[in-house]
Amino acid sequence: MRHTVTLIPGDGVGPEITRVAKTCVEALGVDIDWDVQCAGASVIEKEKTPLPDSVLDSIAKNKVALKGPVETPVGKGFRSVNVQLRKSLDLFACLRPCKYYEGVRSRITNPSGIDLVIVRENTEDLYAGIEFMATCGGDNPLLTFIRERTGVELTCDTGISIKPISITGSERIATFAFEYAKKYGRKKVTAIDKANIMKLSDGLFMRAAENVSKKYPDILYEHKLVDNMCMQLVQFPEKYDVLVLPNLYGDIISDLAAGIIGGLGVAPGANMGNEYAVFEATHGSAPDIAGQDKANPAGILFSTVLMLAHIGEANAADRLKLAVAEVIREGTSVTADLKKDDDSRPPVGTMAIGEAIIKKVNEI
Ligand code: NAD
Repeated sequence: MRHTVTLIPGDGVGPEITRVAKTCVEALGVDIDWDVQCAGASVIEKEKTPLPDSVLDSIAKNKVALKGPVETPVGKGFRSVNVQLRKSLDLFACLRPCKYYEGVRSRITNPSGIDLVIVRENTEDLYAGIEFMATCGGDNPLLTFIRERTGVELTCDTGISIKPISITGSERIATFAFEYAKKYGRKKVTAIDKANIMKLSDGLFMRAAENVSKKYPDILYEHKLVDNMCMQLVQFPEKYDVLVLPNLYGDIISDLAAGIIGGLGVAPGANMGNEYAVFEATHGSAPDIAGQDKANPAGILFSTVLMLAHIGEANAADRLKLAVAEVIREGTSVTADLKKDDDSRPPVGTMAIGEAIIKKVNEI
């Protein structure tokens, strides 16, 4: 089957790693027409924006995108490309599979069974951007409202961030997590929050997840508090499968999970909604090594694996995953960041690891 996918090379190491992804897809024999679209710092001078409308139009048309990392210039008044993509395309779920691959450095003693999928709600919670700074002197309607409604007396030098969590948003993300579990044969979904303290926001999230779980009797469901979960993930990560969380906890637990499997270098990601999906590595544009053939393409390749599975190319997805895992396990053709301390063999460049993966793809 022929597919059309939007390809955003991005900034820094983005063009180098997405080039490897393209050649691997070709080697797999998957028929993809890449609709190449430029976004990020590199287009600002010409387009006067880091996210031209043509990029959004392309994703809206093709429904699926593979994206390299993009830079958002600090202090220049541009909104983050990633935030704009999420908002414009209603990408309400952030998907972060964190699987340990043999050969990657991890501080966990026995990481081999770690295979987590983090599903983070992307639109609500403390990231909604509703913040106030109380001021001293004069009337303060917000503090008065809080005093009258809750009896809590806040001082006039208090910063206040609002944490909106809705039933609609919570049911939507829980349904996404269960549907993902069902589609990919996962056994258990764990909902994570702090419902014992924030009964109205996190408590609502917990009840929504519980309600949704009843529609999926074949998938185990459990609830955990986020503090306990941090300890569980360090001590017994292999016991967990799909995790579903509100935005803030999802952000933190995603990085914790990436840390236990050996860092962001190999962690794939996707931002998904009901209509559109954007797949990308979780690391940034690595400007310090850009253009030097030093970037590790594993993150974007594992994201390509997710993308291939999403567009119905499950067999190609499995082959690519196996090929990347094998090259990492062998350790002979890997980039410097994947080298173990006691390995004296020299690292290879981005192109060479790409070639080693293509060779494996052809052998599988
Ligand atoms: P970064 O991930 O780019 O780099 C952190 C460190 O990791 C650097 O030492 C870098 O060399 C190394 N690194 C990153 N990717 C690597 C790879 N594939 N192979 C080998 N080493 C790699 O993080 P940063 O420096 O904080 O951010 C740089 C830029 O990237 C910023 O402009 C930031 O806004 C952007 N960024 C974009 C995304 C995205 O588009 N999804 C995500 C994070 C950061």
